[in-house]
Amino acid sequence: MFTVVQGIALRGLEGFRVGVEADLGQGLPGFEIVGLPTSSVREAKERVRSAIENSGYSWPRRRIVINLTPSDWRKDGTGLDFPMAVAILAASEQIPPVDAATALLGELALNGELRSFRGIWTAIVRLSELGTSRVIVPRDADVPPCIGSLRDIVQAPTLATALFALAGRKIVLARPAVNVWQAAELSGPDLDDVVGHETAKRALEVAAAGRHHLLFTGPPGSGKSMLAQRLPSLLPALSQVAWTEVQQIYSVAGMHTAIGRAPFRAPHYTLSAPAMLGGGSRPTPGEVSLAHQGVLFLDEFPEFSRITREGLRQPLEQRTVTVSRSQYHCTFPADFQMIVAMNPCPCGYQGQRNGKVCTCESRTIDRYRARLSGPILDRVDMSLWIDAVPLAAMAAHPVDNPEAGPQAGDADARTRRVAIARSFASLRKAAESTDAARTARGVPWVHLAFDSAAEKLLVESAERALLSTRSLLKVARVARTIADLDETWTVAQEHVEEALIYRFF
Ligand SMILES: [Zn+2]
Repeated sequence: MFTVVQGIALRGLEGFRVGVEADLGQGLPGFEIVGLPTSSVREAKERVRSAIENSGYSWPRRRIVINLTPSDWRKDGTGLDFPMAVAILAASEQIPPVDAATALLGELALNGELRSFRGIWTAIVRLSELGTSRVIVPRDADVPPCIGSLRDIVQAPTLATALFALAGRKIVLARPAVNVWQAAELSGPDLDDVVGHETAKRALEVAAAGRHHLLFTGPPGSGKSMLAQRLPSLLPALSQVAWTEVQQIYSVAGMHTAIGRAPFRAPHYTLSAPAMLGGGSRPTPGEVSLAHQGVLFLDEFPEFSRITREGLRQPLEQRTVTVSRSQYHCTFPADFQMIVAMNPCPCGYQGQRNGKVCTCESRTIDRYRARLSGPILDRVDMSLWIDAVPLAAMAAHPVDNPEAGPQAGDADARTRRVAIARSFASLRKAAESTDAARTARGVPWVHLAFDSAAEKLLVESAERALLSTRSLLKVARVARTIADLDETWTVAQEHVEEALIYRFF
């Protein structure tokens, strides 16, 4: 007797439907899995057999062959345990056949319990795009809302209950709770608890509004990390579409994110290149993809290995990262906002005013700075020197000198301004795209709508400071964002003046 049950396998974020075919033939009893299974799929043999017997069904004393189609794709992971068990039960006529619009996903425990596996969330999303109308998954699985062709997600605790559900018997099953889109409350440190650093706070606000990459340079302990960690508090909640993208990446990495929250990743500089960019024996997203739609903070940037630093070039340029191994080749999204932080020199004290003296040779300093190479520097729009806030200023706050510190609710006001600036910018861009005449004059920043005083200042400061065209465009872009924060259509002189502050190199 031959039967087929639908499952799915993932390669990175890509999913392909797997037909799990079971055939019970003559000959010595045995169990064979063919169709390019990896070792984790082959190990299913023992789990499937025990789960079937412990769920009150009998193990057929026949020659059992499972074939996984399409046979030219490698199948990985434990999610095919459940469809294999059901295919064997249907082939041995212990249960009726399963229709092709239903897919089964889950790992089996020896006692027949259904267990979730890494990537199940993403697998369900892929099935919804492939025309599947019903899926049966483990009860403890993280599941997306019913989307695409998907009409029903059944969550079952065990193989036996799942078989009840397949037979159309009414049982009480948990329904996914995330059908209603509700972004999680954002929590975490915000700028209200940062004393001083007014320029840096404003720079973070501008960077958040325009998604500009930032560079912080300053001595150790000056507050670079503290400031960077507060960027997420300025970012608006992710849209449902954006969050769904993020969650697919996290699911494949075996992680979860709070609904609607922009990710913040701060990998240590000892991290290996595959952990940063993605890789592994199974395609696993790296830090650049885990920071997708959010923030990637790279502290002590020159200390990252050369291969890791160079590897950032592709995600920064293409907003995706391609991972190639002998067994696979796959692409993950990697559209992040980057904050790079570094000391001015290896010892950290160059340019310090409070008495500490730099002990580095100038050659060492040059080599250290050269590690912040072209591709990274080219993408950084804003650059700031972060100086330690003097202890006296810290002590004066807030009891003695309330004006010196941030106002209560200042951080909330910034977050609101960022959200407004972003919607203003998208309205502006929509209007501009229909206004082709503006860009026809051939001057690169003309489409950014500078008034004549702003344009004059931009050109003059470019000549005075010998700015390259690339640096000039960076200033222009940042000035455009500052005007968006003001909700003005035209970029004025004051916006360019402010943008010029954020170019310390
Ligand atoms: Zn030094």
